Amino acid sequence: FDSAGSLSSGGINSEMEEFDIDTADADCAGRPNVGKSALFNRLIRRREALVYNTPNDHVTRDIRDGVAKLGDLRFRVLDSAGLEAEVSSSSVLGRTASMTKTVLASSQFALFLVDARDGLQPMDLDVGKWLRKHASGIKTLVVMNKAELLDDISGSLAAAAGEAYTLGFGDPIALSAETGLGMTELYEALRPLLEDYVLRILKDEDIHQIGSREDEDIESKLPLQLAIVGRPNVGKSTLLNAILQENRVLVGPEAGLTRDSIRVQFQYDGRNIFLVDTAGWLERTKQDKGASSLSIMQSRKHLMRAHVVALVLDAEEIARDRRSMKHAEVVIARRAVEEGRGLVVVVNKMDLLKGKQNSKIYERVIEAVPEEIQTVIPQVSGIPVVFVSALEGKGRIAVMREVVDTYEKWCLRLPTARLNRWLRKVMSRHSWKDQAAQPKIKYFTQVKARPPTFVAFVSAKTRLSDTDLRFLTKSLKEDFNLGGIPVRIMQRTAP
Ligand code: GDP
Ligand code: GDP
Repeated sequence: FDSAGSLSSGGINSEMEEFDIDTADADCAGRPNVGKSALFNRLIRRREALVYNTPNDHVTRDIRDGVAKLGDLRFRVLDSAGLEAEVSSSSVLGRTASMTKTVLASSQFALFLVDARDGLQPMDLDVGKWLRKHASGIKTLVVMNKAELLDDISGSLAAAAGEAYTLGFGDPIALSAETGLGMTELYEALRPLLEDYVLRILKDEDIHQIGSREDEDIESKLPLQLAIVGRPNVGKSTLLNAILQENRVLVGPEAGLTRDSIRVQFQYDGRNIFLVDTAGWLERTKQDKGASSLSIMQSRKHLMRAHVVALVLDAEEIARDRRSMKHAEVVIARRAVEEGRGLVVVVNKMDLLKGKQNSKIYERVIEAVPEEIQTVIPQVSGIPVVFVSALEGKGRIAVMREVVDTYEKWCLRLPTARLNRWLRKVMSRHSWKDQAAQPKIKYFTQVKARPPTFVAFVSAKTRLSDTDLRFLTKSLKEDFNLGGIPVRIMQRTAP
């Protein structure tokens, strides 16, 4: 659901809206062969999907994650195939169960698929029971798939609908993932749910609930997608190898997906981390050696898959050059921030400056990089910069610490009550030119995380100036330790 648009945004451009998708998540659930994948594919069309899997688990299939586009609705959709394994066999509870539950818990609604022609099977009843137990907090819609095989005239469709109704989740929606029949009905059923969801999160009490610890925990436990980017030869592969010293899990390509989606997955500090597009850049890096182009992240598509982007620079080049960042690096850093990703800058090959420790060069590199980043990305202060030697394995822990730290800030949710206490303080702390200059904000709330996005509700005649918004952003970042990540504030007229 295009929430950014409906919130009358200040500062979010139309390109961004497409990706502003954390607003509502849907989960496709159901027994095998009812057509979950088919519906998932129709919803995301040819867009790319992310694939999560549970390591060493031979039972569950991967969970696919993509952006659904249905008319003017945008939402994130997950195909939680893991659920099948769980309801069909009680012996595979555990990892699979917790992953599926995590997905459900972080979703706003579930699409429960049944096969219209087969009629209800015992396993559909099990799935229904399972959903009632584990997804009671979210809205479930029953979808009768393969409806093109039935018809209205003989009454077979009506009979199937009557049967599906007995699952207890309200009126079913008949559609065909294969032919597209009934997608309008799905749109009509989802639209009010999504609108309702957006309205609900804008209401004080509920944001409180949404911003609870529990929610935050779920979000920060979802796998972190990390992209290591930079020009050829800066040391990305070397850094990656240093980080991956142990605990590497290589994941093969998924049938039906491009080889780009080969992923490297590893554990760091008890957390699952996926490297985005690793296969792609490992290959391209080899081809591109010496080329001036970026070997990765030329396309926005790849950038959008990352939560945190680690941009690697070469210390020796910086020492040699007057400017610390090349044009391409500036472009990538800016784009990462504009797209709302977390950014960590890694200055590699510090060992080459070793003999120069006392010289001006060493100091200049240490000072120049953070300064230049601040200059090229003035809107985000405090972007972390880590100085490392990938070759000597030095600094890899610091890199990962900054990556995880950035991710946690990126996932942060602040309860509305706390934000409004803060707002009152911040307003009284600041000395305004005169009383009239003080912006009148009725209340302030966080509408989403990843990255943290806030709405300031103002009265009908008020419009916050850019200066006001900058002041609020700066104070918010200082007071809640949100430095280094993009934070957005939009304004909206209070109802
Ligand atoms: P999943 O196991 O639930 O993900 O199911 P799939 O999406 O893999 O679909 C299972 C089978 O049903 C495949 O052979 C699909 O081609 C078929 N299928 C999916 N959707 C439809 C539909 O709307 N109509 C018909 N006739 N077949 C469908
Ligand atoms: P990529 O193209 O960004 O993946 O770069 P590579 O990891 O392939 O490294 C390019 C070259 O820089 C190789 O010869 C590496 O050995 C060297 N290199 C990488 N990291 C360091 C480092 O920390 N110090 C030094 N001195 N050389 C490094």
